[in-house]
Amino acid sequence: MLKRLSIVLLLLAFSALCTFAQLGEQERSWNQPVEPFRIAGNIYYVGASDITSYLITTPKGHILIDSGFIETVPQITANIVKLGFKVEDVKILLNSHAHYDHASGLNQLRRLTKAKLLVSRPDFDLLARGGKADPNYGDRFPFEGTRADATFRDGKKVKLGGVILTANITAGHTPGCTTWTTETVEKGRQFSAIFVCSTSAPGYDLVKNERYPAIYSDYQATFARLERLRPDIFVSAHGRQFDLLGKIERMKRGEENVFVDPDGYRRSLKESRVAIESTYERQSAASPNPQR
Ligand SMILES: [Zn+2]
Repeated sequence: MLKRLSIVLLLLAFSALCTFAQLGEQERSWNQPVEPFRIAGNIYYVGASDITSYLITTPKGHILIDSGFIETVPQITANIVKLGFKVEDVKILLNSHAHYDHASGLNQLRRLTKAKLLVSRPDFDLLARGGKADPNYGDRFPFEGTRADATFRDGKKVKLGGVILTANITAGHTPGCTTWTTETVEKGRQFSAIFVCSTSAPGYDLVKNERYPAIYSDYQATFARLERLRPDIFVSAHGRQFDLLGKIERMKRGEENVFVDPDGYRRSLKESRVAIESTYERQSAASPNPQR
């Protein structure tokens, strides 16, 4: 009996490994450890070399945006401790979007922190089913799904210990992709900060996407909205989108406020918009009945 039980357990462990594939070479390169640091005011970087995670501290506990891969979680928790904070003081978990490289570790972080997980209404189901039936990826990138404690709509203000984070639903990359904005004070100066959800469309169908018919108009609304914002501090779900590693080097050389980058923000938006529009044009031209 015992033997049979251990075989069953082994098989279960094996099937879990198969369901959530190990990181490939590209993902491993995105997940290299990085020394944690303070971005400005009460905003800290606790993520990896490209897969980001942000800690926003308050006197009443902390807010954490994004978990990275499940493999990123030990880096994130070690980084929080290195900065002198306690993992169990994280009270609220947020997510940029329900993709495997930003959400795979959320359930593990919930177990470790007992924090409340808040997710945009349009990404709730995608997160709950662990990335399966994604409008663009289908079942290609499954992860350990988790049902958030609560959902919110566009404009939601998440408040903790005097800190307010505002949810801007910037749909397209996922239907509930959430860009967070807040304010912070660094050496007596007030800065607005933006944590941009992804605005890329890697391999996406922007024309006749049956699982997400409004995808292109959603991207257009997202760009129009992001272009109206005027953040000082600019960071995003992927480090490469705001030159994380280059800015870390500049910081090490003693430069101050390297993440205050309004020009970089506008440049990045422009590049994303051009990429999305040219993909749309190309796909429309190749489609027998273009959706115009
Ligand atoms: Zn993504």
